[in-house]
Amino acid sequence: LVRLRQRLAGSQGGLGRGLLALLSRERLDEETWESIEDVLIGADVGVAPTQELVDRLRTRMRVEGGTAAEARTVLREELVNLVDPGEGLDRRLKVSGDDGRPGVVLVVGVNGAGKTTTVGKIARILVAEDRSVVLGAADTFRAAAVEQLATWGERVGVDVVRGPEGTDPASVAFDSVRQGVETGADTVIVDTAGRLQNKQGLMDELGKVKRVIEKQAPVTEVLLVLDATTGQNGMIQARVFSDVVDVTGIVLTKLDGSAKGGIVVAVQRELGVPVKLVGLGEGADDLAPFDAGAFVDALLG
Ligand code: GDP
Repeated sequence: LVRLRQRLAGSQGGLGRGLLALLSRERLDEETWESIEDVLIGADVGVAPTQELVDRLRTRMRVEGGTAAEARTVLREELVNLVDPGEGLDRRLKVSGDDGRPGVVLVVGVNGAGKTTTVGKIARILVAEDRSVVLGAADTFRAAAVEQLATWGERVGVDVVRGPEGTDPASVAFDSVRQGVETGADTVIVDTAGRLQNKQGLMDELGKVKRVIEKQAPVTEVLLVLDATTGQNGMIQARVFSDVVDVTGIVLTKLDGSAKGGIVVAVQRELGVPVKLVGLGEGADDLAPFDAGAFVDALLG
């Protein structure tokens, strides 16, 4: 939690401190509520959820009366409700097939979102848990992406299956899963290309990748990697991806130093899938499971 808090230092400045300063005012009046709305919308929480939260906060403070300390408690509760709407969001990663075959984790998202880095970081966590992992470098359109994944493979100590530049991504995905099956691996993680060409092209490409994988082993997760700093633009891209593949979880990257932590709320509501992991830096250990309570505490400082 301490690390999460340090890493969210930027968000804390933008969101937590601002909110708490507002609630420490002597009088909680209309101006206070409007300022709180501004802070939340500025942090990308989204207009509708913000209004709901502030309405509830205002009503509860009126009914329950209250000092600044109580307002803080109520605000924390309402933020947690917003981040974790109590619909039993299952945030655990499913990384193994149930039938002795490997589980396949497909990682999608636009270029630059942090896919390759996230693949490396997930591999590191799984290896630390003594699982055997194979990586598939199916982002074949960028030689740099393949090299980058190969570097992660060396660093973490796992095999990376790759093809020559420009190979059909589906063929690399197929080969990586075959290697996973043949070597009895627990998990195969497939990095995909993030060209946001037209929707049909993306659908064809990812659809084919998924089909060739499923001939050999179950796709247990489709993780959409989103850069938290991209705001509304990121949301539009997220919608396109969730239209073309069945996304099972979101990885929100670059939350370190971003004042946009509220995007967690917006994206979960929009896509109806949980944020499962958050990226908190460029290093190998900078990936954490998402925990609503810890996240809100870190935001509030
Ligand atoms: P891809 O094109 O989606 O595969 O993206 P990359 O994995 O190549 O990441 C793009 C850039 O974002 C790289 O410089 C990464 O080091 C950086 N990056 C990825 N995740 C994070 C994160 O959580 N925090 C920060 N600060 N940088 C990140």
